[in-house]
Amino acid sequence: MNWPDIFLREVPADSDAKELALSVRSSVFDNEKGLFSKCDLRKICESGKFEVTTADFNSTEIKTEALLVPMEGDKFRIVLPVSHSASASLFGKGVTRHRNRFRIAHEIAHSFFYKRNKNCPVKLTQDSKAEEDFCDLFASYLLMPFDVVSKLPRRPESVDRIGADYDVSLEAAGRSLAKANKDILVLGLSWKENPRDKNIGLRVQWSAGDLADFIPNNTRLHSPSALEAFESSKSIENIEYLAVGNLRGMFHISVDKKINRNFTIAILSLPSMSEITHMKENMSIFR
Ligand SMILES: [Zn+2]
Repeated sequence: MNWPDIFLREVPADSDAKELALSVRSSVFDNEKGLFSKCDLRKICESGKFEVTTADFNSTEIKTEALLVPMEGDKFRIVLPVSHSASASLFGKGVTRHRNRFRIAHEIAHSFFYKRNKNCPVKLTQDSKAEEDFCDLFASYLLMPFDVVSKLPRRPESVDRIGADYDVSLEAAGRSLAKANKDILVLGLSWKENPRDKNIGLRVQWSAGDLADFIPNNTRLHSPSALEAFESSKSIENIEYLAVGNLRGMFHISVDKKINRNFTIAILSLPSMSEITHMKENMSIFR
C-alpha cells in the first residue's frame, strides 16, 4: 500500500479532511483495527516519510506549535517543541503526549499542501488561517475516526472514552464528539475561583460545538445539576433553565461524575418536546 498521492493546491472543503484522514489510515493499515483504533503515529510517520525530532523553541523566534521542514529525498522533518517535563520518549507523557500527537497529525496534514517527488517537497499554497483550520480538522479525524465517534452516545462519558481509547486530550475528544453531533455543546468545567470576586464555582474551561462562540472561557455555569454531579461524584441528567455566557434558555444537561479533583464534563442540548411536556406535568412553576 502506498501513501496517498494527493497534492492540494488550495484548501479543500471541511468534509474532505475526513476522507483524507481515512485514506491515510487505509494506506498504512489494512485491517479494521488499524482503521478504527488508536492511531499508531509511528507507523504513519514511517510510511509517509516523516522524521520526528524536537528543538528548543524558547531560544528562537518560532511562535508556532510545531514545524514541518521539507527535506531532500521526498522526506519531511516534524519538529516538536522540546518538553521540559521529564519524559522518556519523544512523544512525552500525559498532556505533553496528547499535544504532541495532535501536533504531529496536524503537520502531516500540511504535507499534502506540498508537491512531493524524489527531491525536496515544494509548498503549493501560501500559509493561511484556512489551511491551519483544515489541518486541525484533519488531525482530529486522523486521531479519532469519525465512523466510531459518530456512533457513540451523546453523553459526557463518551468524551472520557474517546480520550482514553484514542490517547487524546479530553478537549480534543469533546471537540470531536461535538463535530459528530451538530446539535450539542460540550463543556469542560473546572472548579475554580474567580480572580476578581474570589467566588468559587464551576467555570467553563473550554467549550465545543456550533454554539460555543456564545460561551467565553471562564464563564460561570450556574447549574444545580452540574453542582450536584460534581459534589456527589455521580452522573446527572436534567432539564434546566440555564444562563451561561450569552446563551439563555431551557436545556437538557447531562453531567459526568467528577473526572478528577476539579474537573468534569457537561453536554448541553435543546430538550425534546416530550421532555418539556413531562417537565411541565411535574413542576409547579408552569401552573
Ligand atoms: Zn499548522
